[in-house]
Amino acid sequence: MKAHDGMYIDGAWRPAAGADTIAVVNPADEQVLAHVPAGTAEDVDAAVRAARAAFPAWAATPPAERAARIGALRDVLVARADEIAATVTAELGSPLKFSQAVHVGAPVAVAGSYAELAASYAFEEKVGNSTVHLEPVGVVGAITPWNYPLHQIVAKVAPALAAGCTVVLKPAEDTPLTAQLFAEAVDEAGVPAGVFNLVTGLGPVAGQALASHAGVDLVSFTGSTAVGRRIGATAGAAVKRVALELGGKSANVILPSADLAKAVNVGVANVMSNSGQTCSAWTRMLVHETQYEEAVALAGEAAAKYADRIGPVVNAKQQQRVRGYIEKGVAEGARLVAGGPVAPREQGYFVSPTVFADVTPEMTLAQEEIFGPVLSILRYEDEEDALRIANGTVYGLAGAVWAGDEAQAVAFARRMETGQVDINGGRFNPLAPFGGYKQSGVGRELGSHGLAEYLQTKSLQF
Ligand code: NAD
Repeated sequence: MKAHDGMYIDGAWRPAAGADTIAVVNPADEQVLAHVPAGTAEDVDAAVRAARAAFPAWAATPPAERAARIGALRDVLVARADEIAATVTAELGSPLKFSQAVHVGAPVAVAGSYAELAASYAFEEKVGNSTVHLEPVGVVGAITPWNYPLHQIVAKVAPALAAGCTVVLKPAEDTPLTAQLFAEAVDEAGVPAGVFNLVTGLGPVAGQALASHAGVDLVSFTGSTAVGRRIGATAGAAVKRVALELGGKSANVILPSADLAKAVNVGVANVMSNSGQTCSAWTRMLVHETQYEEAVALAGEAAAKYADRIGPVVNAKQQQRVRGYIEKGVAEGARLVAGGPVAPREQGYFVSPTVFADVTPEMTLAQEEIFGPVLSILRYEDEEDALRIANGTVYGLAGAVWAGDEAQAVAFARRMETGQVDINGGRFNPLAPFGGYKQSGVGRELGSHGLAEYLQTKSLQF
């Protein structure tokens, strides 16, 4: 697989400051795909300087022209869809069809939505005797994870460009090839030099240098709560704006009036999708005690069907981590219904689709984010009990509610402490704000709410 041996800075691929590299490994066969440069503080500094220098002109570029560049970027992503999907499959391990439909499909939709929003957004409003100008925040340091490698990048870069900000991206070390393809696409789309810059590298080195750089005005981070907390503290000390999209432990609440088989099947599919590496996955299924054993049987059957369908998890460390959680679940007394800790294949970082029953709310399985194909099924006595369990974690990113009567599901969803809820299997909406309550994060991505994160207001009084 082709890889650049430099950084994309100020509109060109430039040699990295240091000689260290990162090996990119295919998690399906454990073979090294390529090497990319491991950026240093020096590379980050060069990229931030380029972004700063490009900021005044880009901020002054009419929104319609910014929209045209984002539209062109979307078109390049569409034209290069096969190459991007193959790259995501190679470095993340997701099945090719899933890469095409989701790993390329979602970012194309999001880029398209920002091409439209940039052209139509009201960057100026009247409030009484004032005119309020919504101005770009400045230079954005974007730090992204590997689980949806292109989507996470586009969900930050597209609104930042729409707002008139310039960007330095530090992508995850496991999926830098997708990020390099994205940089090529930005270049092809005619985005001016310095508006978008890419520095590959390790989190604690390049990521930290970017998050703490004095020339960055906003740090937008997606990743683990542990790293997010540190980035938030650094940004706070510098009185710098920060957006954090962090972990989740979302509840899939099946009320007794729901279509049980549908709710269970869609719930299992949701957790197994992307090998469970989805921050918003509904990893806790809550079922009424009278329907509990039926749901457990259905979930076990559904999970077994994914044995040959799901890809590996991203790397050996993640495989060990997920296996550790499965072993802990057994040790804490949960009942294994499908899967288990034994790797299903000798080669590749595969984990069996796993379902646990008799999971109680205080168990580790029900509290901590696993980030693997592991579903926990909990029982509840009544709606109040279900709500207590659903809200009983430090997270609040997403969730689902199923009921025969939509109004009943909505009433329940309104009481959930979480940022996004799918009603009876609701579909992905690229315009709906996405982000967390509680320790799932600060700020929102996607749609106009996501664009607002990159703007600051200035009021003129008359
Ligand atoms: P991670 O926090 O380890 O890494 C995320 C990014 O941060 C990577 O680019 C990494 O290199 C960088 N990083 C690591 N240490 C850093 C440091 N000290 N300073 C600056 N940057 C640093 O997370 P991960 O393992 O890559 O991703 C999985 C996590 O991401 C899960 O917890 C998942 O829930 C979360 N996630 C959240 C969302 C969301 O929108 N809320 C979306 C996807 C993933």
